[in-house]
Amino acid sequence: MKQKKASQIVLWLLLVSTVLLVLSYFNIVDKPFALPPDPEQLIQIETDGMSTDQVESSDNPTGSEVDILPSDNEEIVPSEVQATDSDEIDDSDTTGALKELVFTNINPDDITTDGTKLRVWPEESSVPQARDPNAPVLAQPNSDKPLAGAFVILDPGHGGSDIGVSWQGEEENDVLLEKNINLEIATKIQEELTRQGADVRMTRSTDEKHSYFYIMAYTADLLLQRYANDIKEIGFDPEPLENLRLLMQDVIRINSGLQDSGGRGIFDSIGTPPNLKLIYDIESEYKDTVFISIHLETSDQAEDKGVRVRYMSKEYAQDMNNSYAAGTDALKHSPNYNRYNSKRRESMAQLLADNLVATDSRMKTNLQPVIEDDLAVLRLNNVTSAQLTCGFLSNEEDRARVTSSEGQALIARGVATALLRYYTGDY
Ligand SMILES: [Zn+2]
Repeated sequence: MKQKKASQIVLWLLLVSTVLLVLSYFNIVDKPFALPPDPEQLIQIETDGMSTDQVESSDNPTGSEVDILPSDNEEIVPSEVQATDSDEIDDSDTTGALKELVFTNINPDDITTDGTKLRVWPEESSVPQARDPNAPVLAQPNSDKPLAGAFVILDPGHGGSDIGVSWQGEEENDVLLEKNINLEIATKIQEELTRQGADVRMTRSTDEKHSYFYIMAYTADLLLQRYANDIKEIGFDPEPLENLRLLMQDVIRINSGLQDSGGRGIFDSIGTPPNLKLIYDIESEYKDTVFISIHLETSDQAEDKGVRVRYMSKEYAQDMNNSYAAGTDALKHSPNYNRYNSKRRESMAQLLADNLVATDSRMKTNLQPVIEDDLAVLRLNNVTSAQLTCGFLSNEEDRARVTSSEGQALIARGVATALLRYYTGDY
């Protein structure tokens, strides 16, 4: 009898909670656990494909229609803020309480200085670890999708009004522009890596101009989205990351090349501003992610040819930053970042140089094949990054190779082999 009574109570409770849930769905009663979205969240939720009306309704206790759609002449609307593609932060309601996401070690005033050189940020990460930065990446490197698990960001250099280097033949219309060839090669690499199972993103897929800061903010935003999902998985509230994503989307918008106003956003200044340290610390957890910028070169010497790879170690980045600050007061600058993984960067650069030549001996250069260099696309991110120069437009043999479908396919195959070695190596 006791059991029967208990089961009746459970049945009633179930019935009542179902009714309440249905009512909350139609906004007749408050949603359990749901908080009203703040304006920043509205922008994020907007990118999930929901209409702004749907989002607004839960924040509108009267249930009356609120027209918040922007008028035609308004410049900045939430949908313009949407800059990247399908990876969205999981906004589904959670039933448990989430831990507060606290950032540490990001106050420059706390950092002591000896006054003779630029200060550096503490070695410790400022964010809770969501991923083991040393965990294996590839699920099944011996399968027909050996690169499954890899996340590759390809950056076809230049675009739009920024043509890069060029070559002019005898005929007037016999012109080669670096920007076009870079995009063709990057597209070939994308196809090859995707065929082998990698998740590949392109900073551009059309003839459009983006600044370095756009490219770095696009990269940062991809990683911020992934980190927000991962950190939620282990019980943290990802909400504070929304502010960082908004900063990135500002940088993306300002630097899109569609407007005259350039801007560096949080990438400004010598050293590494606090928000950028957070992003770098987050990026450093993603061993599965590499960034490769695709370029060509030109030279006064017609014999200069072949493939060269540029990378930037943490020591090199700090030296460069320190030299920029020479003769100025170190205390006026942000501290330097010192958690780039130099070994991984150097290893990937060497693997790219070696495996491209092994795939196509025509890619061997007469110059130094692997070079340390100070480039924004290498300095302003903390994934394993490299700039791959696929050949010289000033060299006849290289021109034929980098513009031919066969030559481009060999570059793609070489990059895939290099990445397979990189991901299965001990780096
Ligand atoms: Zn270039």
